[in-house]
Amino acid sequence: MKILVINAGSSSLKYQLIDMTNETVLAKGLCDRIGIDNSFIKQTRGSEDAVEIKKVLKNHKDAIEAVISALVDEKIGVIKNMSEISAVGHRVVHGGEKFNSSAVIDETVMEAIRECIDIAPLHNPPNIIGIEACQAIMPNVPMVAVFDTTFHSSMPEEAYIYALPYEMYEKYKIRRYGFHGTSHKFVAERAAELLGKPLNELKIITCHLGNGSSICAVNKGKSVDTSMGFTPLQGVAMGTRSGTIDPEVVTFLMEKEDLTIKGVSNLLNKKSGVLGVSGVSSDFRDVQVASKEGNKRAKLALDIFCYDCKKYIGAYIAIMNGVDAIVFTAGVGENDFNIRERIANDLDFFGIKIDEEKNKIRGQEIDISAEDAKVRTLVIPTNEELAIAREVLRMLK
Ligand code: ADP
Repeated sequence: MKILVINAGSSSLKYQLIDMTNETVLAKGLCDRIGIDNSFIKQTRGSEDAVEIKKVLKNHKDAIEAVISALVDEKIGVIKNMSEISAVGHRVVHGGEKFNSSAVIDETVMEAIRECIDIAPLHNPPNIIGIEACQAIMPNVPMVAVFDTTFHSSMPEEAYIYALPYEMYEKYKIRRYGFHGTSHKFVAERAAELLGKPLNELKIITCHLGNGSSICAVNKGKSVDTSMGFTPLQGVAMGTRSGTIDPEVVTFLMEKEDLTIKGVSNLLNKKSGVLGVSGVSSDFRDVQVASKEGNKRAKLALDIFCYDCKKYIGAYIAIMNGVDAIVFTAGVGENDFNIRERIANDLDFFGIKIDEEKNKIRGQEIDISAEDAKVRTLVIPTNEELAIAREVLRMLK
């Protein structure tokens, strides 16, 4: 069974075709600059080099058509015919309170996803356009929506209700939702396998550290709290996002800098975080280089990031009354051993201790705990596409 996984953003669309008989990626690719000039599709087959083809992609329908053409192409393709695609899995960022599981897409599900636009105006519209484009081109292929929020639907009320007037929750559904759920679930399950224990006997803290970062407390396989909130802006400082700040800063800034709602949202989402503090870049690699060259603000940005992560680890140990494993994943978590070391150091009070030598590795699954550590610290590369494809399979069975 071959499953196509689609992750549609506003001007880009990532995809993977996965053969679920052995969970191998047949091809993966990216349509970029959709609706803008110089658009293109880039596809990689197995371990071959990527092939980039310039193509006018006016909209997401053009992009999906380009994906199908690339997949069935005689030279760079991996299947003979579109009919070989048995199902499509769509990443959908926000499922609101409607979805505590993935969903086989029908008109009712689409309506529910549309209802979430109000609380996810930046994320859900491109996801919806991606689904509609696929439906237009593959009308008879079953499709499944897999939500970033679903895994966190198990959080208890005290973790997700904000201390605002309760009517604000009732009226607008303002609450913590949490994101990166597919990734947190995937690495937590893998951690249990590596530890050789059932997931429902473990307390795990998963740290998904990338451009966007979130940390999750996974107790007995269920998310009980996570650092992102109503939107992916809350939590630790990120590449360009401020993370948690005093909400009164927003009104203060609007007044002092004469900012509109859009303006202040842009400042908090796009100009803050590691980029805002360092003034160098949102990319951790660049900031690391600048910090090593003596740039004080670059160092400060990294200090803030590590400090924030450490605080969440401590908080989640408190709410779970213990921890069996800490997991690092995503771009920074998998690759940046300096960041891992700084977060995990000086946590020996909790039994967390890493082996500096073992830690010096990038992008590999590895147990980096010191011999005498009570808590295991693991690096587990995330694979959200495979997790989505597995969900599709589960839902269609
Ligand atoms: P996204 O949230 O966009 O999915 P990723 O999980 O791909 O992000 O993470 C992107 C981040 O990972 C970038 O900030 C980049 O600096 C960081 N990163 C990737 N590779 C490395 C590396 N080798 N060393 C340090 N940081 C890295």
